[in-house]
Amino acid sequence: MKLRKVTAVSAAALVLALTATACGSDDKKDDTGSSASSSGSGSGGKIKIGIKYDQPGLGLKKPDGSFAGFDVDVATYVAKELGYEPNQIEFVETKSADRENAISRGDVKFIAATYSITDERKKKVDFAGPYLLAHQDLLVKSDSDISKGTDLNGKNLCSVTGSTSAQNVQKSIAPKANLKEVSTYSECLAGLQSGAIDALTTDDSILAGFAAQDQYKGKFKLAGLKLSNENYGIGVKKGDTATTDKINAALEKMVSDGSWDKAVTANFGPANYKNEPAPKIGVIVPKAS
Ligand code: GLU
Repeated sequence: MKLRKVTAVSAAALVLALTATACGSDDKKDDTGSSASSSGSGSGGKIKIGIKYDQPGLGLKKPDGSFAGFDVDVATYVAKELGYEPNQIEFVETKSADRENAISRGDVKFIAATYSITDERKKKVDFAGPYLLAHQDLLVKSDSDISKGTDLNGKNLCSVTGSTSAQNVQKSIAPKANLKEVSTYSECLAGLQSGAIDALTTDDSILAGFAAQDQYKGKFKLAGLKLSNENYGIGVKKGDTATTDKINAALEKMVSDGSWDKAVTANFGPANYKNEPAPKIGVIVPKAS
């Protein structure tokens, strides 16, 4: 199975990411991802925030270098509450497998990147939230007869290293699937289109964004399975309870002032993704509910 081709989106993201790295940043950063003091006060400094770059509707770096998506809007709202204006934000790409390390190293102050709260991850990082409940699902070709998790056994499946999606497939959904793990979900799309891949699995929120892309319209469908509960949290350095508390307060305010609903409509509306209601802070919907 070959998965060498990358999509236009991920290729563009890669070029932009490389450019961004080459340009670098000359502001000084402390070990918390902030170039100002770690107190959380903006005061003219920058804040580094981890997001995804290739997930339309959630975290996307556009060809013009700007960023869009629900995670971007959540991150921007939270940053404002921490004292940082949008022009003080420096978004950094945090791929699924890099998230715990990016936080522990202090590369970023926090991460809003379709990052599910799990007990395993909580050993390494703290989480604010949850701020969205998604479910693992499958993206297949429109004419595919894959309709349940066990149909994946013996099939070519694509997912991302370090994700709950890949782990769930191996542990419970379809241990006999031929799982190909790559570093970003968009890398799975070319294989799905060519037929090298039978299904792409991750959160329905992410898959809906891909399926709604102009180049894929009518070609793919979501299986509509709720294979898991994915409680999206904001990852923070372990022990930084001051920041976690402030982010929780910001998330609560985002819901109560209507900004959460606005962000949902703006980002999930185009993909027709029917999201779950806003979660309550600190309330995790367990795996089998
Ligand atoms: N939400 C899942 C996770 O945190 C899958 C999506 C992702 O890889 O970001 O692993």
